[in-house]
Amino acid sequence: NLEQGPEGPETPIQVVLRVRPMSAAELRRGEQSVLHCSGTRTLQVSPPGGGPDVAFRFGAVLDGASTQDDVFRACGVRRLGELALRGFSCTVFTFGQTGSGKTYTLTGPPPQRTFTWLLDRVQHLDVPVTLQASYLEIYNEQVRDLLSLGAPRPLPVRWNKTRGFYVEQLRVVEFGSLGALMELLQMGLSRRRSSANTLNQASSRSHALLTLYISHQTMPPVDPREPPAGGKLCFVDLAGSEKVAATGSRGELMLEANSINRSLLALAQCLPETLSTLRYASRAQRVTTRPQAPREENRHLRSQLGQMDPKASGLSGARVAWAQQNLYGMLQ
Ligand code: ADP
Ligand code: MG
Repeated sequence: NLEQGPEGPETPIQVVLRVRPMSAAELRRGEQSVLHCSGTRTLQVSPPGGGPDVAFRFGAVLDGASTQDDVFRACGVRRLGELALRGFSCTVFTFGQTGSGKTYTLTGPPPQRTFTWLLDRVQHLDVPVTLQASYLEIYNEQVRDLLSLGAPRPLPVRWNKTRGFYVEQLRVVEFGSLGALMELLQMGLSRRRSSANTLNQASSRSHALLTLYISHQTMPPVDPREPPAGGKLCFVDLAGSEKVAATGSRGELMLEANSINRSLLALAQCLPETLSTLRYASRAQRVTTRPQAPREENRHLRSQLGQMDPKASGLSGARVAWAQQNLYGMLQ
């Protein structure tokens, strides 16, 4: 339990599964959830093909009745904030198919608990703390600054020894109050290609990264013109994990399958230990409601995916295998 604090060892990666409540449309259609939350860490899934339930274990499982506050506590965000105040980089990301509740979970109705907690915590520290924020979107492999003063334009990603990977000319804005930070959030949200309620193509194809930079005197900036070295809290609203089935013609679909899922694949490569958990999570999420009969198009894509050639796609054999396993189920 991350909430327990500094005595025990830190958990490097915590996977929390949240089941979205059935929507009004799903209820109207008489659909029934095949996900059953038993206990606080296990999810029982009724297989689409029938037979006994399959159980999946997570760091925590939150059912459809869970609140934003439950998520905040189960994910140990306060603990991550404490770590960020001590100079660590911490990330919270949401993974799942479009409509599964990623954006709602990260930026749902106020109050924004992390923001409230952070501003309050900083006020009670003895040292003055500098707080800054940046907000960007990665759409079609291009980075757009959601806080830019002019219209967002594509920015280059660079790397150097002191900073590691960074986005050149990304606007990093200092803030000192909850109100100011909320304004930045709203500005970024309104400039995203998506909103929480639209399931349009663009919304499900973009990743959004809100980063809070936390620095104080004991963590001097490497270069005063650059964002200070210090702790970071990053909130990532990932693109929908279902991409392939979404849009376009068959040729484009395959291209999209390669390029969009490459970013999710790269993520899985960064987190080898969680690879299987992510795979299970995506499988679990796609069966939130009983699947409809497979569409002809999906059948075609499944066969294309089966023939995906590692050499032609530029991906390693392991990545292709992972893509095949992961996407196959989504195309059912
Ligand atoms: P995603 O970002 O994964 O595509 P959204 O966050 O946009 O999904 O959620 C899809 C819809 O479901 C939205 O209308 C959202 O308001 C609603 N929704 C998602 N999660 C919840 C929840 N826990 N409680 C109530 N409504 C939710
Ligand atoms: Mg979303």
